[in-house]
Amino acid sequence: MNFITRQTQQIIDKTLDNHICLAVTGLSRSGKTAFITSLVHQLIYATQSQQLPLLSVYADGRLLGVKKAAQSKLTVPPFAFDEAMSNLYADDPKWPVSTRGVSEINLVLKYQVKTGMTRFIKQTGTLKLQIIDYPGEWLLDLPMLSQTYQSWSETFFTHHQTTLHQVNYKPWLDKLSKVNLLDPMSDEEVALLAKEYTDLLYEAKKQGGYFIQPGRFVLPGEYQDAPVLAFFPWPIHQNAINESDWLSPPKESLLHKLQTRYKEYCHSIIKPFYENYFSKFDRQVVLIDCLQALNQGQKAFNSLEFSLTQILDSFHYGKRHILRRLFSPCIDKLLFAATKADHITSCQQPNLLKLLNSLVKDAKSNIGFSGIDIDSKVIASIRATIQGKLTKGSHITPVIKGYDTESNQSVTLFPGDVPPYCPNGEFWQSQQFNFVQFAPPKLEKHDYLPHIRLDSAIEYLLGDKLK
Ligand code: GDP
Repeated sequence: MNFITRQTQQIIDKTLDNHICLAVTGLSRSGKTAFITSLVHQLIYATQSQQLPLLSVYADGRLLGVKKAAQSKLTVPPFAFDEAMSNLYADDPKWPVSTRGVSEINLVLKYQVKTGMTRFIKQTGTLKLQIIDYPGEWLLDLPMLSQTYQSWSETFFTHHQTTLHQVNYKPWLDKLSKVNLLDPMSDEEVALLAKEYTDLLYEAKKQGGYFIQPGRFVLPGEYQDAPVLAFFPWPIHQNAINESDWLSPPKESLLHKLQTRYKEYCHSIIKPFYENYFSKFDRQVVLIDCLQALNQGQKAFNSLEFSLTQILDSFHYGKRHILRRLFSPCIDKLLFAATKADHITSCQQPNLLKLLNSLVKDAKSNIGFSGIDIDSKVIASIRATIQGKLTKGSHITPVIKGYDTESNQSVTLFPGDVPPYCPNGEFWQSQQFNFVQFAPPKLEKHDYLPHIRLDSAIEYLLGDKLK
């Protein structure tokens, strides 16, 4: 089938309600690649593995088969599923390479139709599932669309830099203090200052900062080294200039260059992403790694909380929201999933769900008004530990056992209590959460990827389309 025919077929399928575009996002290392790899694997092998009891089409015995299908959008890089599987099934298993940009993978699910008139005739249904993976950092850029370069700079220096990052900006700011914003500056010099700013963002990310803006600076995708990414916020309070200069700076000045690039970034990068991808999503999963943030401490956790609020604004498209004015997004189901639940003992999973719910509470009530159906779940896409119990006299402690990649040995531990709410100051003083980076499970060729409640997530996202 050629490209045009494929696109036309997709529109027909959408009309017949047998095509679904499922988008998967989350901040870096939240588990997007592991989630998609496992989701595809679980569906393809559903009938052999018998690992999806909570997926009703499988539990009813109506799932006939699932296979990969050709991509409809030929301009999007394919999701590297085969490579991910080779990593996981190697003799020395490795986690798949994490998401760096947008990618796509397509599946076709064949099932026996259950409901309606057709239930009397054994009719076969087909669901075409298009899965799109993209970095959550890109959604952090949404507020920039309604800001000017000046107001963006102001917000960065009055709020983000001071409250969300633990990085020393001083040497870079000292350099800027010697620069006159109204003087000309060569492209090379601007690029150098922008690179230093980007390095600080990478450092902030390393220190547990989740709010990184502009998001493409750390995950540039196809824009790596493009001049449109060579700008930076200006410390307005440190180097004040007249209001009239902000409005019409000299043509050759640094300010003119920074303003032009900022506008171009909004126009050529942020907007097209919402136009070309976001507005076509039917369903969305937002993956959240709460445990890593708990492990990194209070500032990291606050930064995660703030970033999620920003990200979720992309789904809160009430009548007057900027997204509604620009495009007509059509997501009808949104799932928040706390990932890597195999890092905690099963008795702590209810607390993790409560923590997740308190993190997204405000967003949930806002989004609810936009008519989107929302749910939250605790999952492990690829379970890397096993649960157990340690008995000492009459005392029984629940534990998990896995292979720690740092100490290079098998460990058995109780990782700690997960707080059932966004923690306060007291919690951080006595915080003893011990989050270990586990190696992926060691699998034989005939083994299937173990998971925790991925089937319940799939049921929520696709169940109603497989009736
Ligand atoms: P992405 O940046 O969102 O694509 O994140 P990845 O899917 O690459 O996950 C980042 C890292 O988190 C992986 O390399 C693993 O170390 C870990 N991870 C992801 N999912 C799981 C899971 O289900 N269980 C465990 N134990 N670790 C996971």
